[in-house]
Amino acid sequence: FSRNYKLAREVSEAQTNSTKVAGSSSIDNNNNHHNTSLSHEEKSPYAKFRGSKALYVTDFASLAWCEMQQHYALMVGGKKETKAMKAGSKIHNELELQVHDIITIPTKTKEDLWGIKLYNVIVGLESLDFNHKTRELPIFGFVSDLFVFGIIDQVGMKKREGEWTISDTKTRVRPSLPDQKKILPSVKYQLMLYKKLFDTLIQGAIDDEIIYQRLCLNPDLEFSSELANIIKRFRNFDNGEEKGFQPNLRNLMKIVVNNFGKFRKSSNTLEVNYKYQKDGSDIGSLYFEYDENQITNYLTKSAKYWKGDRTPDGVPIEEAWKCQICEFADDCEWRLNKIKELSQTKRALAEIT
Ligand code: SF4
Repeated sequence: FSRNYKLAREVSEAQTNSTKVAGSSSIDNNNNHHNTSLSHEEKSPYAKFRGSKALYVTDFASLAWCEMQQHYALMVGGKKETKAMKAGSKIHNELELQVHDIITIPTKTKEDLWGIKLYNVIVGLESLDFNHKTRELPIFGFVSDLFVFGIIDQVGMKKREGEWTISDTKTRVRPSLPDQKKILPSVKYQLMLYKKLFDTLIQGAIDDEIIYQRLCLNPDLEFSSELANIIKRFRNFDNGEEKGFQPNLRNLMKIVVNNFGKFRKSSNTLEVNYKYQKDGSDIGSLYFEYDENQITNYLTKSAKYWKGDRTPDGVPIEEAWKCQICEFADDCEWRLNKIKELSQTKRALAEIT
């Protein structure tokens, strides 16, 4: 048994088909989006779209592109998967397989699913400790009381600085680096949130009881046999080193918190690594500095949206070019209102002049 395995939930054919059907029928109906009216919304976006599940880091980061677009995407069950997105996932998978093998196992309970995530954190941290590098490291924590989960593309040791550097991989159509100023705000917020969550876990400042409550998990429920057996082998249970170890969330979480405590805080310099979409080759990296005020203000504002304390905004007029490539443009209330306002202003100006 190798310790260098990560786990993934085995998805049955029935589950795959039902996901596909739900996705395709709700996104588009003969190119007419439906049920996207923002009126009469009673529940907060968090309650409505996530229920007792976690928010993802990307749920926060993607608001920086256009909040209204994110809201519409949630209403119709997701954005259409583009060619670039498919190419990006393929490259991410190939990169992960360079570091870890992945085995799929059947899951029976919600606790099993979170058990897999925690197991993957432990394997990822071991890899970081031994190899000074890990890929696809699960991370979690709270933003304004909301539970957030994410997966960091890569954490590695930069020899010169001697610090852990968090990086995200992006794919590009052209084999050249973009201008430094063109690092998207959504990418910056994504990386800054990863760092914030990573460093909080290192400080041990996390209350696992609240996580179980929020996600409606029973921390003492023993995992289903397949996962329980893997974890027992992983912990050398068979050799009698840890007699009495119960494979459940509470015990895995203790190991996770303890293992994070062995690391130092991550570097303030964050990395965006670019790969060429066509063949996955490395283009190079751009770096930027973590800004605590900037990320705190952004997360406070974003959390208000998720909690339903404010409505989503569309893009400002100077970013109206985003509407031209937006799949929700035809029905977007924000855009239609702006067009109306603009034509009223033009009419008023024509009357004055
Ligand atoms: Fe946002 Fe423009 Fe799309 Fe509306 S049309 S969701 S404002 S990008």
